[in-house]
Amino acid sequence: MPSSADPIDPLHRALLARIESCYRQAESHFDRTFPRPAVSLRMRGQSAGAAHLQDNRLRFNPVLLAENPDAFLTEVVPHEVAHLLVWHCHGRVAPHGAQWQSMMRDVFGLVPRTRHQFDVASVAPKTYAYRCQCQEHQLTVRRHNKVSRGQARYLCRGCGAALKPV
Ligand SMILES: [Zn+2]
Ligand SMILES: [Zn+2]
Repeated sequence: MPSSADPIDPLHRALLARIESCYRQAESHFDRTFPRPAVSLRMRGQSAGAAHLQDNRLRFNPVLLAENPDAFLTEVVPHEVAHLLVWHCHGRVAPHGAQWQSMMRDVFGLVPRTRHQFDVASVAPKTYAYRCQCQEHQLTVRRHNKVSRGQARYLCRGCGAALKPV
Protein backbone atom coordinates (compact mmCIF):
# COMPACT_ATOMS: atom_id res chain seq x y z
CA MET A 1 0.00 0.00 0.00
CA PRO A 2 1.51 3.35 -0.98
CA SER A 3 2.00 5.83 1.83
CA SER A 4 1.46 9.48 1.01
CA ALA A 5 5.21 9.84 0.28
CA ASP A 6 5.18 7.11 -2.37
CA PRO A 7 4.40 7.82 -5.99
CA ILE A 8 0.72 7.08 -6.51
CA ASP A 9 0.05 4.07 -8.74
CA PRO A 10 -2.22 4.46 -11.80
CA LEU A 11 -5.24 2.77 -10.20
CA HIS A 12 -5.04 4.95 -7.13
CA ARG A 13 -4.79 7.98 -9.40
CA ALA A 14 -7.83 6.77 -11.40
CA LEU A 15 -9.72 6.34 -8.13
CA LEU A 16 -8.98 9.92 -7.06
CA ALA A 17 -9.90 11.23 -10.52
CA ARG A 18 -13.22 9.35 -10.43
CA ILE A 19 -14.02 10.75 -6.98
CA GLU A 20 -13.30 14.26 -8.23
CA SER A 21 -15.51 13.76 -11.28
CA CYS A 22 -18.37 12.55 -9.05
CA TYR A 23 -18.05 15.71 -6.98
CA ARG A 24 -18.07 17.90 -10.10
CA GLN A 25 -21.22 16.14 -11.34
CA ALA A 26 -22.90 16.69 -7.97
CA GLU A 27 -21.79 20.32 -7.80
CA SER A 28 -23.19 21.14 -11.19
CA HIS A 29 -26.40 19.23 -10.40
CA PHE A 30 -27.01 21.04 -7.09
CA ASP A 31 -25.27 24.30 -8.00
CA ARG A 32 -23.29 24.30 -4.75
CA THR A 33 -19.92 23.09 -3.54
CA PHE A 34 -19.12 20.10 -1.36
CA PRO A 35 -15.98 19.68 0.76
CA ARG A 36 -13.68 17.00 -0.68
CA PRO A 37 -13.24 13.91 1.50
CA ALA A 38 -10.06 12.32 2.81
CA VAL A 39 -9.49 9.09 0.87
CA SER A 40 -7.67 5.96 1.92
CA LEU A 41 -7.22 2.47 0.52
CA ARG A 42 -7.15 0.84 3.93
CA MET A 43 -10.06 -1.52 3.70
CA ARG A 44 -9.80 -5.29 3.89
CA GLY A 45 -12.19 -8.20 3.63
CA GLN A 46 -15.20 -8.45 1.36
CA SER A 47 -16.44 -4.86 1.56
CA ALA A 48 -15.60 -2.68 -1.42
CA GLY A 49 -15.78 0.66 0.34
CA ALA A 50 -17.13 2.69 3.22
CA ALA A 51 -18.13 6.29 3.82
CA HIS A 52 -17.43 7.85 7.22
CA LEU A 53 -19.94 10.66 7.39
CA GLN A 54 -18.83 12.77 10.33
CA ASP A 55 -15.15 12.68 9.28
CA ASN A 56 -15.96 13.24 5.59
CA ARG A 57 -13.76 10.28 4.77
CA LEU A 58 -13.88 7.47 2.21
CA ARG A 59 -12.18 4.10 2.48
CA PHE A 60 -11.78 1.66 -0.39
CA ASN A 61 -10.60 -1.92 -0.74
CA PRO A 62 -7.40 -2.00 -2.84
CA VAL A 63 -7.70 -5.74 -3.63
CA LEU A 64 -11.22 -5.47 -5.05
CA LEU A 65 -10.25 -2.26 -6.87
CA ALA A 66 -7.31 -4.01 -8.56
CA GLU A 67 -9.41 -7.05 -9.49
CA ASN A 68 -12.45 -5.15 -10.81
CA PRO A 69 -11.18 -1.71 -11.81
CA ASP A 70 -13.94 -0.83 -14.28
CA ALA A 71 -16.93 -1.82 -12.16
CA PHE A 72 -15.23 -0.40 -9.10
CA LEU A 73 -14.72 3.03 -10.64
CA THR A 74 -18.12 3.03 -12.34
CA GLU A 75 -20.23 1.97 -9.37
CA VAL A 76 -18.44 1.67 -6.05
CA VAL A 77 -16.95 5.15 -6.08
CA PRO A 78 -20.26 6.98 -6.75
CA HIS A 79 -22.00 4.65 -4.27
CA GLU A 80 -19.72 5.82 -1.45
CA VAL A 81 -19.55 9.43 -2.61
CA ALA A 82 -23.37 9.47 -2.66
CA HIS A 83 -23.39 8.58 1.06
CA LEU A 84 -21.30 11.68 1.82
CA LEU A 85 -23.39 13.89 -0.45
CA VAL A 86 -26.62 12.70 1.20
CA TRP A 87 -25.10 13.47 4.58
CA HIS A 88 -24.25 17.02 3.46
CA CYS A 89 -27.68 17.61 1.90
CA HIS A 90 -29.99 15.79 4.32
CA GLY A 91 -28.09 14.90 7.51
CA ARG A 92 -28.71 11.51 9.04
CA VAL A 93 -31.17 9.47 7.00
CA ALA A 94 -31.49 5.77 6.12
CA PRO A 95 -28.18 4.72 4.47
CA HIS A 96 -29.67 3.37 1.24
CA GLY A 97 -33.00 5.18 1.46
CA ALA A 98 -34.82 7.45 -0.97
CA GLN A 99 -32.24 10.28 -0.79
CA TRP A 100 -29.32 7.98 -1.55
CA GLN A 101 -31.22 6.23 -4.35
CA SER A 102 -32.13 9.53 -5.94
CA MET A 103 -28.47 10.66 -5.69
CA MET A 104 -27.39 7.52 -7.57
CA ARG A 105 -30.12 7.79 -10.19
CA ASP A 106 -30.51 11.52 -10.75
CA VAL A 107 -26.97 12.77 -10.16
CA PHE A 108 -24.88 9.84 -11.40
CA GLY A 109 -27.35 8.16 -13.76
CA LEU A 110 -26.79 4.76 -12.13
CA VAL A 111 -29.06 2.00 -10.93
CA PRO A 112 -28.94 2.24 -7.11
CA ARG A 113 -27.62 -1.14 -6.00
CA THR A 114 -26.67 -1.62 -2.39
CA ARG A 115 -24.21 -4.49 -2.84
CA HIS A 116 -21.35 -5.03 -5.21
CA GLN A 117 -21.25 -8.23 -7.26
CA PHE A 118 -17.54 -8.86 -7.31
CA ASP A 119 -15.96 -12.26 -7.02
CA VAL A 120 -14.65 -12.21 -3.45
CA ALA A 121 -12.70 -15.48 -3.61
CA SER A 122 -9.35 -13.74 -3.13
CA VAL A 123 -10.55 -11.77 -0.10
CA ALA A 124 -12.81 -14.43 1.44
CA PRO A 125 -11.62 -15.91 4.72
CA LYS A 126 -9.34 -18.88 4.08
CA THR A 127 -10.27 -22.28 5.42
CA TYR A 128 -8.29 -25.46 6.07
CA ALA A 129 -9.38 -28.94 5.02
CA TYR A 130 -9.76 -31.54 7.80
CA ARG A 131 -11.06 -35.08 7.71
CA CYS A 132 -12.86 -37.37 10.15
CA GLN A 133 -13.95 -40.93 9.26
CA CYS A 134 -16.94 -39.94 7.15
CA GLN A 135 -16.33 -36.67 5.33
CA GLU A 136 -14.13 -33.65 4.77
CA HIS A 137 -14.57 -30.51 6.90
CA GLN A 138 -13.43 -26.92 6.38
CA LEU A 139 -12.04 -25.23 9.47
CA THR A 140 -11.60 -21.49 9.83
CA VAL A 141 -8.13 -20.05 10.31
CA ARG A 142 -8.96 -19.39 13.96
CA ARG A 143 -9.98 -23.00 14.61
CA HIS A 144 -7.07 -24.37 12.59
CA ASN A 145 -4.64 -22.30 14.69
CA LYS A 146 -6.19 -23.62 17.91
CA VAL A 147 -5.79 -27.21 16.72
CA SER A 148 -2.20 -26.53 15.63
CA ARG A 149 -1.36 -25.09 19.04
CA GLY A 150 -3.03 -28.02 20.80
CA GLN A 151 -5.64 -25.68 22.34
CA ALA A 152 -8.69 -27.38 20.86
CA ARG A 153 -9.98 -30.59 19.29
CA TYR A 154 -13.03 -30.70 17.09
CA LEU A 155 -15.26 -33.78 16.72
CA CYS A 156 -17.39 -34.65 13.73
CA ARG A 157 -21.09 -34.50 14.58
CA GLY A 158 -21.68 -37.34 12.12
CA CYS A 159 -19.18 -40.01 13.16
CA GLY A 160 -17.82 -38.59 16.42
CA ALA A 161 -14.19 -38.90 15.29
CA ALA A 162 -11.65 -36.15 15.95
CA LEU A 163 -10.93 -33.97 12.90
CA LYS A 164 -7.41 -34.32 11.50
CA PRO A 165 -5.72 -32.09 8.94
CA VAL A 166 -5.93 -33.57 5.43
ZN1 LIG B 1 -23.78 1.98 0.89
ZN1 LIG C 1 -17.37 -37.78 10.44
